[in-house]
Amino acid sequence: MHEMSIMEGVLTLAGNEAGKHGYQKITRIKLRIGEFRGVVREALEFAFDAMKGDTAAKDAVLEIETVAIRLECPNCKEIEYIPGDLNLLCPGCGSPVEFAAGREMQVEYVDME
Ligand SMILES: [Zn+2]
Repeated sequence: MHEMSIMEGVLTLAGNEAGKHGYQKITRIKLRIGEFRGVVREALEFAFDAMKGDTAAKDAVLEIETVAIRLECPNCKEIEYIPGDLNLLCPGCGSPVEFAAGREMQVEYVDME
């Protein structure tokens, strides 16, 4: 279950942030996670609840924003993403497409007090 290791990283990062600025308590953690990451939101929330106990984030609110996948062809611009279709070539011209969004895995902000 890779949500556990993701959350471990998030809590470590948040804890370091708080320590660096001299805060004792984390009140809110906001994550942005792209759909392409295949992260199960419920599993992430479960991991948070299971792991936050001994950390500065034990009373924190976890907010997760899911970022939809958007693909872009360098020639045709934005194209539709068909879930489950991992052929990342443009249906229009056959060029390799790029991710315009959907691969995010970031801590957007950490609120502390
Ligand atoms: Zn194209």
